[in-house]
Amino acid sequence: MSLHGQLTPNNLPAAFVNRMQKQLSDAPLFFEALQSVPPVSIRLNPAKLPLPDSPFLTERILSKVEWCRHAYYLDRRPVFTLDPCLHSGGYYVQEASSMFLDQILQQILPPHPLRVLDLCAAPGGKSTLLASALPAGSLLVANEVIRTRAAILKENLIKWGADNVVITQNDPACFSYLRNCFDLILVDAPCSGEGMFRKDEKAISEWSERNLQLCKERQQRILKDIWPTLKPGGHLIYSTCTYNPGENEEILSWLLNQYDALSVPVTHTLGDSLSPTLHGYQFYPHKIKGEGFFIGVIQKTGEQKETPQVKKEKKSPVRLPEGLQELLPQDQEFSGYNSGNVLGIIPTRHAEFTALLDKQLTVLYKGCELAEINGRKFKMQPALALYQCLDKTRLICKDTDLESALRYLKKEDISTDAPAGSWVLITHNGMGMGWGKSLGSRLNNYYPKEWRIRMSTD
Ligand code: SAM
Repeated sequence: MSLHGQLTPNNLPAAFVNRMQKQLSDAPLFFEALQSVPPVSIRLNPAKLPLPDSPFLTERILSKVEWCRHAYYLDRRPVFTLDPCLHSGGYYVQEASSMFLDQILQQILPPHPLRVLDLCAAPGGKSTLLASALPAGSLLVANEVIRTRAAILKENLIKWGADNVVITQNDPACFSYLRNCFDLILVDAPCSGEGMFRKDEKAISEWSERNLQLCKERQQRILKDIWPTLKPGGHLIYSTCTYNPGENEEILSWLLNQYDALSVPVTHTLGDSLSPTLHGYQFYPHKIKGEGFFIGVIQKTGEQKETPQVKKEKKSPVRLPEGLQELLPQDQEFSGYNSGNVLGIIPTRHAEFTALLDKQLTVLYKGCELAEINGRKFKMQPALALYQCLDKTRLICKDTDLESALRYLKKEDISTDAPAGSWVLITHNGMGMGWGKSLGSRLNNYYPKEWRIRMSTD
């Protein structure tokens, strides 16, 4: 729940107010900003651009978020659920300060493909940003330990439509067998959430000095578990949405003391660096248009060491049926896999490493699921409709107006003139949303039940 207008120092925890007054020379401006309306911002999906000329967004766009590509402020918060383009993965609603990750990536990413882990990934704001920003040919492993949150992460990533993502649901300690495997790790750590006070009442009610200490200990545990999986020379990006030094700069210092590592500076015009040797960037709502956020980059030093070897199994390759093969980009190599009756693909260059992930992790999803196969028949999977590289020219498409698009997303009936028995890709403004199967004059709606719009759209 948003609390703007009510957040005076009188109704915030006294120990928090005291600390912020010591921490900031301009604390009154900070407390004043907490009473204002939080800005609304979105980040477009560059693989699904240009966005349709839909008044839903275009009439609301106010200005660019300067530190992130494809990101904009809106003039107010619309009911996003009523925009089919959101359901097609055309954009993601993301808090602006946290998009500073894009600035960092632009400065540290080499041009060659990387293996990347986003360890605390749900609901997927930074994973979708990473999926768009990584060099071509990279692999992103997006992990979330909490099962219900992992389901939301999966939905958001499937809608984003990249094929180079693996979604896992594991505790950080489960990754320990992947020593020296990742070029880049993002730890967007669970924290005390002080930076979200303006937007989230729960963050205030859960705040206590005891909890700050518990958060710090948990952050250290997470980092200790995951550090061995970072390659020497690789980068670890650490971020939180709190102002608490114990969870921010003290964690970076602890990492530098504990391991062979360097703090990496980022060229920027925002946030404050901590000292000439410790670089971390803190964002405050009275200084920039966004919520409280902290981010820093650490590079692992030392020589590259051994990595786990994948024992090659003699498996015969999974063949893709003709009707599906032709829907995929023809200039890339994919390996097929079976997950029960469902047939999916993963770029061939990542097949070996993903087999290694399959061995000891709970892999919820990988690449792109194409269809459920039953003998010679197939049932198209939702992910294929949302896939960034789907060749739509080979399909029967039905482009819907806003009213029919919302009916489709509510899992209601819509009409068709496609031949009975044929699969139809349902689009809105040209963007895939999901599948229907023609019954002659109407469509059987194959939109996933768990994704459907439940609110009234009248
Ligand atoms: N990166 C996400 C994004 O941009 O949308 C937000 C991540 S949120 C700040 C932190 C995440 O860490 C939560 O999804 C939470 O469930 C997860 N988490 C909680 N305890 C954890 C633990 N012990 N180890 C790893 N992750 C944990």
